Amino acid sequence: MQFCECGALLVPDKSNGKIRMRCPSCGKTISSDSNSKAFEIRQKIRHSDLEKTVIIESPNNIETMPTTSAHCKKCGHNIAAYWELQTRSSDEASTTFYRCRKCGNTWRDYG
Ligand SMILES: [Zn+2]
Ligand SMILES: [Zn+2]
Repeated sequence: MQFCECGALLVPDKSNGKIRMRCPSCGKTISSDSNSKAFEIRQKIRHSDLEKTVIIESPNNIETMPTTSAHCKKCGHNIAAYWELQTRSSDEASTTFYRCRKCGNTWRDYG
């Protein structure tokens, strides 16, 4: 773990294929000189890639999100909050995310 000079915990920031440590508090970035350390971070990100993607892309105000009729495979509930993710490329179809209002299970639907 690395800490910024402002005291905040640095988080890995991936841009242009390079991993850097970024401070979420003041925005300062620190490039890592150690290859082994960068590799370690990369492995960590790849390991939980799917899980992290869902969490990061989820809006914080899930309680106020619109709901729709969607079947949760986990608990069988039929109401889920949903939101659409705008993709950068217009060639790609937009992705709709659902989150079960009962158990919190989140899944995506490629529209
Ligand atoms: Zn900082
Ligand atoms: Zn559920």
